[in-house]
Amino acid sequence: MKRKGLAAVYDKPNTPFRIREYPLRDVKDDEVLVRVTMSTICRSDIHSYQGHRPNPCPGILGHEIIGIVDQLGNEIKTDLRGDKLSVGDRITWTEYFHHGYSYYREIKDMPQKSKGVRKYGHDLVEEDPHFNGGFAEYCYIYPGTGILKLPDSISDEEATPLNCGVATMIAVTEAAEIKMGYSVVIQGLGLLGLYGCAIAKANGAGMVIGLDSVDDRISISKKFGAVENINVSNLSEQEVIQRVRKLCPPDGADIVIEVCGQPSVIPSGIEMLRIGGIYVIGSEKLLTQNLP
Ligand SMILES: [Zn+2]
Repeated sequence: MKRKGLAAVYDKPNTPFRIREYPLRDVKDDEVLVRVTMSTICRSDIHSYQGHRPNPCPGILGHEIIGIVDQLGNEIKTDLRGDKLSVGDRITWTEYFHHGYSYYREIKDMPQKSKGVRKYGHDLVEEDPHFNGGFAEYCYIYPGTGILKLPDSISDEEATPLNCGVATMIAVTEAAEIKMGYSVVIQGLGLLGLYGCAIAKANGAGMVIGLDSVDDRISISKKFGAVENINVSNLSEQEVIQRVRKLCPPDGADIVIEVCGQPSVIPSGIEMLRIGGIYVIGSEKLLTQNLP
C-alpha cells in the first residue's frame, strides 16, 4: 500500500492545528483501518487543547469517531455482537483499547479503567501507524478495541458521540440504579445532562428535572425527556432545593446526577435527596481532580 492521508495535528496547547500528511500502511492481522467520516469535538478535546489536561504532543485529538472499514485484518471477523465485519461497513468503536488480562474488565465490568489502558486521540502522531485520533482522514483500530457495526437507522450525527458521551451516561445512570417511577434530578444540561434526561426517562423515571442556568439548554431539555426544568441563575441555593423537593413528593428526589463539573453543586444536590437516595458524580473532572 502506498497511500497517504491527512491529519490535523495538535502540536501544543492553544496553537492552531497543522495539516500534515502521513503514509498509510497495510493493517496487521489484528488491526482495522477506518476511513473517518465524522468526529466530534468532545469537551475533553477542548480541555486538552486549552492545556488543562495532559495529552501527548504532537498528536491527533478526537476520540468520538465513526468511519467506514477500509482494511480488515485477517483475525477480525466479527463485531462485539458477533455480526460479520466487512470492508465498507460503517462502524463505531470503544474510545479505549487494552490488550491482555484486566482485573477491571474481567471482574469489575469497568474495562475502561484497566491498568495500562490507552485511548484514541491520546497518542503521539509520530509513532507508527500515525493515525490514532479522530481529526484525520483515517484511523487504525488496535487490538483490544470493541467494534460495533452501525445500523442505517442511526445517522452519523447521532452515532458519533456514542462511544464517549452516551457511554459515560449509560455508566452514570447504571450507577444511579434508576427504577420505574423514580424521580431523577440532573444538575447540568450540557450534552451529558441531555443524554441523562433521555436515559432516565427511557429507564422508567416518572419525574425528570433538569437544572441549568443557560436558557437554550433548558428549552431543549424537554425534547430529551425532562419533565420539569429549573433555571437556577436567579435563584438561591435553598430556593432551588425547595423547588426540587416540592416536585419530588413525599420527601425529595430518589436520584440526583451531577454533570456540570462544578463541585459547589454537590452539597445542594445531596440536600435534594430523600433518605436513602443516590447521588452520582458524573463529571470526569470532579472524579479525577483529587486523585494523585
Ligand atoms: Zn469524550
